[in-house]
Amino acid sequence: MKSWQMIVPIVLVIFIYAASAHAISNQPIHWGFKKAKNEQQADAGSEYDQLLDKYGGFYKGNSDEKIVYLTFDNGYENGYTGKILDILKKEKVPATFFVTGHYLKSASDLTKRMADEGHIIGNHSWSHPDMTQISEDKIRLELAKVKKETEKLTGQTDMKYLRPPRGILSEKSMKIAEEEGYVHVLWSLAFKDWLTNEQKGWRYSYDNIMAQVHPGSVMLLHTVSKDNADALERVIKDLKKRGYVFKSLDEYMFKEKLKNPLLSN
Ligand SMILES: [Zn+2]
Repeated sequence: MKSWQMIVPIVLVIFIYAASAHAISNQPIHWGFKKAKNEQQADAGSEYDQLLDKYGGFYKGNSDEKIVYLTFDNGYENGYTGKILDILKKEKVPATFFVTGHYLKSASDLTKRMADEGHIIGNHSWSHPDMTQISEDKIRLELAKVKKETEKLTGQTDMKYLRPPRGILSEKSMKIAEEEGYVHVLWSLAFKDWLTNEQKGWRYSYDNIMAQVHPGSVMLLHTVSKDNADALERVIKDLKKRGYVFKSLDEYMFKEKLKNPLLSN
């Protein structure tokens, strides 16, 4: 065989290898999971587990501790966040609020209050796009603008949690977010609570939460829901009676890092 005849396949192999190494999937994932029942953890399946693990994200805590991580998505203000903050303060419960640019601009006082009262502000992107349909530069900009505006309002400089808008993500969007220093925080407990003209009364929210709660719940609630605001105090009190404690995402991350020191960066 002539030497050039060997070079061709070698070059081809290198080319294919390089191309596949860069071809990270941008296939949209619409976040979903098998809901928890009888306090058995929700389950998103091993494929999603592995993907989240790869990029340092998570959607639930440990199965052996009755802990609930309360998270809220704040796209816009509908008049109930003040009440929610009052209840969290009274019950001494920490939460994470994932805010958009619109929220920061239109509800700056409430955002400041969240930070002042010890809650975490997370990134829900500036304009709530589908992260799989915009360019890499645009993703970085969406994240940076929220971080900057939050810092301006609250002085918090360490924004590190991201909740992908619309619950849509891809391996590529996760990788970019990770490069920007973000941890993807999905969720393991949710229900249709965001339609403001389809509120059904506090019991609807309460029953959904109580039916799905499990050890290590990452609970997603929308603050625009009157049902959630009206149910929250009872939910917290009754979960405490059932032996649950409420912890912050920082407490979860801290424990995980102690368990896996190699993951620390
Ligand atoms: Zn949202």
